[in-house]
Amino acid sequence: MMVVLPIFQREAGPLKGPVLRRCFGSTSRRQTTYGFVGLGRMGYPMAKNLRSKLSSSDRLIIYDTNQDATTRFSNEMQGTVVADGVRDLAENSETIITVLPEPSHVQNVFQSMLKPPSLLKEGINKERLFIDCSTIDPRSSHDVANAVHSTEQGRFVDAPMSGGVVGAEAGKLTFMLGAHKDLVGRVNEILMLMGKRVVYLGPQTCGLKGKLANNYLLALNNIATAEAMQMGVKWGLDPTVLADMINASTGRCWPSEVNNPVPGVSISAPASNGYVGGFGVKLMNKDLRLATQAAKEAGIETRLGPHARKVYDEIEAIEDLENKDFSVVYKYFDSQ
Ligand code: NAD
Repeated sequence: MMVVLPIFQREAGPLKGPVLRRCFGSTSRRQTTYGFVGLGRMGYPMAKNLRSKLSSSDRLIIYDTNQDATTRFSNEMQGTVVADGVRDLAENSETIITVLPEPSHVQNVFQSMLKPPSLLKEGINKERLFIDCSTIDPRSSHDVANAVHSTEQGRFVDAPMSGGVVGAEAGKLTFMLGAHKDLVGRVNEILMLMGKRVVYLGPQTCGLKGKLANNYLLALNNIATAEAMQMGVKWGLDPTVLADMINASTGRCWPSEVNNPVPGVSISAPASNGYVGGFGVKLMNKDLRLATQAAKEAGIETRLGPHARKVYDEIEAIEDLENKDFSVVYKYFDSQ
């Protein structure tokens, strides 16, 4: 016999949108509710992929401070409910995914979700799971995890990602996961609805540590590639021949091969399209700052990091360049 229960003990709550009911049948699986906070450049296409791969009986509750984003999303995707706030969203969701810009946004959102420390447990099929995909520093992430765990309001994992907006749209992101081992299977299943690969790096904060180490290397490789290419061009070498040679030799790296900073060398690279799109200077500089600060807090000396920071700081201060792809460092050096 089909039993119809009210949504998590509430006949009518502040959630906007169609009223959906939990239907527990003896043969069908239980309805699951997902909450998604942060519908920006990454979050919007991730939430779209999530919604389109969930079963139609599952619910997706969304929230963003930008109402245009939530309105556009709920018009575009059937089966979506807009929450009044993040507490409302957390109260009603079993799995909550956050994709926010900076540590302060993540801290504020979690503070609002967790206080008072009495998130309902009734009506939740599984222990509440928070998956934070934002790129923030490991210490802030640890503090947020502690706030979740010490109040016994759920479990928290860090799962920053790589692949950019293109990867988010295509559902081909790679996630770097920091989580207690017993959560890996459950988290993996959810992240694979938005990505193509989940790399488990160890306990909570390890995903972020891996992500920041990778982006630290990327920030340096990008500058080194721009300098090496500039050297060759100024010595009179053909940049395409030089890049081909480097990519068949030991200098090969992602900026030299895929995202070459010299216009015309990689046709699909932002450099060949006025440095538009790609990974912005501001975001690169943010990750570099997070990486060098986290390393410093752990007593790790980064010798090249401060030099690279200076370069990106200079470029970020130029209005015309701050939102261009980070390979624009080549153009900046050329103009000096
Ligand atoms: P974004 O600025 O485009 O989007 C962030 C969204 O969060 C916005 O829609 C904003 O309105 C919303 N927001 C801010 N404060 C909020 C709050 N208190 N409550 C609810 N919503 C709030 O940023 P993005 O490019 O989507 O990046 C998100 C995260 O992913 C960042 O940590 C970034 O470093 C990381 N990341 C970005 C890329 C990329 O290529 N853009 C790639 C990998 C990782």
